[in-house]
Amino acid sequence: MNTVTLKPSKEKSLLRRHPWVYANAIERVEGKPALGATVIVRAHDGRFLARAAYSPHSQIRLRVWSFDEAEPIDHAFFKRRVQRAVAHRQAFVRDTGAVRLIFGEADGLPGLIVDHYVEDVTGDLSGDAGGGAGRGQLVCQFMAAGVEAWKEAIVAALVGATGCPHVYERSDVSIREKEGLQQTTGVLAGDAPPDTLVTRENGVRYHVDVRSGHKTGFYVDQRDNRALVQAYAAGRDVLNCFCYTGGFSLAALGGGARRVVSIDSSGEALALARANVEVNGFDAERAQWLDADAFRTLRSLVDEGERFDLVVLDPPKFAPAREHVDRAARAYKDINLSGFKLLRPGGLLFTYSCSGAIDAELFQKIVAGAAADARVDARILKRLGAGLDHPLLAAFPEGEYLKGLLLQIV
Ligand code: SAH
Repeated sequence: MNTVTLKPSKEKSLLRRHPWVYANAIERVEGKPALGATVIVRAHDGRFLARAAYSPHSQIRLRVWSFDEAEPIDHAFFKRRVQRAVAHRQAFVRDTGAVRLIFGEADGLPGLIVDHYVEDVTGDLSGDAGGGAGRGQLVCQFMAAGVEAWKEAIVAALVGATGCPHVYERSDVSIREKEGLQQTTGVLAGDAPPDTLVTRENGVRYHVDVRSGHKTGFYVDQRDNRALVQAYAAGRDVLNCFCYTGGFSLAALGGGARRVVSIDSSGEALALARANVEVNGFDAERAQWLDADAFRTLRSLVDEGERFDLVVLDPPKFAPAREHVDRAARAYKDINLSGFKLLRPGGLLFTYSCSGAIDAELFQKIVAGAAADARVDARILKRLGAGLDHPLLAAFPEGEYLKGLLLQIV
């Protein structure tokens, strides 16, 4: 058996059940483990610590499959892990046709993301997504050597646990190159996905472009936050900045907003956003779509004296890594400053960061600084994050990437 022995005292993080081992913690590798092969991890004194996947090209050299010495890593292991993840979602996630079934480390499958979309085939938009469930589509991202090596077993387990035969791969992510893997997309099982499928969340329909949309096609992680916007939008003037295919905009329209102005620099995303207004039968007059740079547009809206009752700021990841934190902090401050200036008294700001390198504390400081510069008192009504289908492993704080604040200015 391939065995990796750690340097003295480097076993501590594994004993705390953190699932990664960095290259610099390793003393020696015995055997010739291939890319993604399973190895036994031992402490310096020879004690068993874990079974893990070997990633010879990555600084994250090992990703743990199991801390249980009696648990072999085989087809049955992946079947159990996938079934457990699916059962968790069945128990906790409701009213949606778009669910994250597998969230990497938190589901014991490091480097794997799987989203499940169910097409909405009802004419009736009341009730939950279950009644009019049509064709399903699974969309996967394999982002580490270990899950890549077990792809076939994982796909079989997914089809078995969900009963959904259609699996599409969106492993077109640059992080694969650090693992020594090429980017790839394509059908893994069943039929090719349609150009766009229509799913439903909280009673609102959304087009999802599985093949070429961002990530797996839709920001499933913002479901609960879209529901909050929907709940508070009635009669309000709403601004949604970085709207992509209009997730928060549609939620606001569904919640009875008076007017929704949305900004994004992607024409393709805005085309789907407009189609989303139509597929819901909403009044297109209430929605205005600006194909423009958000930084500049926010400033001109301020200068023009535009004001809103509810503003959403959900930008792309400004800090992809630690070295970008300072520049990213300035960018977050800039948009939040405009966001505060654009709010009427009593107005609500939903503001997010999906940069893992910026933690919740720093994000709150940046937002507080923006409120001070805008000369408003801002009260945090709620701290926000991803939904229950994106659990956070207690031993793995790195898993928390999406953080948000709901603020009210007084
Ligand atoms: N809020 C969205 C997800 C946002 S993803 C949702 O809930 O679905 C980030 C979006 O920001 C992308 O659609 C991208 O096109 C857009 N974007 C990136 N840089 C931008 C810029 N400078 N100005 C406007 N939009 C930008």
